[in-house]
Amino acid sequence: MRYEEPVYRPPSEANSILIQATIGCPHNKCTFCGMYKGKKFRIRKVADIKKDILTARQFYNDDIESIFFPDGNTIIMKTAELEEIFRFCYEVFPGLRRLTLYASAKFLKFKTQEDLRRLRQSGLKRIHKGLESGNDEVLRRIQKGADSKLMIETAKRVKDAGIELSEYVLVGIAGKDLSKEHSIDTAKVLNEIDPDYIRLRTWVPVPNAPLYKDYEKGEFQLLTPHQALQETKTLLENLKVTGLFLSDHISNFVNISGQLPRDKKSMLSKIDEALKFDENCFRPAIIENL
Ligand code: SF4
Repeated sequence: MRYEEPVYRPPSEANSILIQATIGCPHNKCTFCGMYKGKKFRIRKVADIKKDILTARQFYNDDIESIFFPDGNTIIMKTAELEEIFRFCYEVFPGLRRLTLYASAKFLKFKTQEDLRRLRQSGLKRIHKGLESGNDEVLRRIQKGADSKLMIETAKRVKDAGIELSEYVLVGIAGKDLSKEHSIDTAKVLNEIDPDYIRLRTWVPVPNAPLYKDYEKGEFQLLTPHQALQETKTLLENLKVTGLFLSDHISNFVNISGQLPRDKKSMLSKIDEALKFDENCFRPAIIENL
């Protein structure tokens, strides 16, 4: 397989074949993100992407069920090109059941409802979308490229098109001063969207991220483990959604996962239990090679 590294994928795509249709991120400005800072964004030619799919076919059998298109915002590609690639994937891998990609609100807004419907019909099953926060001041500070209104609008359109929606929330990204507003406003936005999945990540300083410099200078304050847990608790207490809530990442201090609203009480109890532990019991602030 031909990859331009680094290549990132969500843990939930661990069993998926990874095909790079785009390289880097067309936004690449989020202050917390260091994933593609060294990569110049470009869209690959459909013919080259198809070659990669055929190469993958040489290594994997018919039993491959999912393909994920990594690198940021592959949704930026023309709808007709995405359709062609998606249909080709299903031809080459007859057992395929799921195609997924990353898409943020900044680029989803350029897709019409008809575009999204066509993508669903050609096999796009799920979109991984970074909400990060529902608070507009936090979204402005982290330069996400979208406000809460656009986050809600685009997410609703994805769901209306019949595409599963996985929304990512970033614990600790509001620092200490806006932590409470961040958790309450994020819950409000998620309640409007009611995504299929809410996936928690806790911000960990990574050297490539612009926010790292602020952290080093003491201008951005990380939450302590207890503060991060309290932020998660406030978020969870305010959620009125019906999807899965998952902490499927090593950045989180505690793994709390469950079906909402059914498991809310037990998840909150688990946070209360974790809050009884001394802060020294949790992971260090920096995780090497994250
Ligand atoms: S978080 Fe997503 S949209 Fe923001 S810079 Fe990173 S890859 Fe791009």
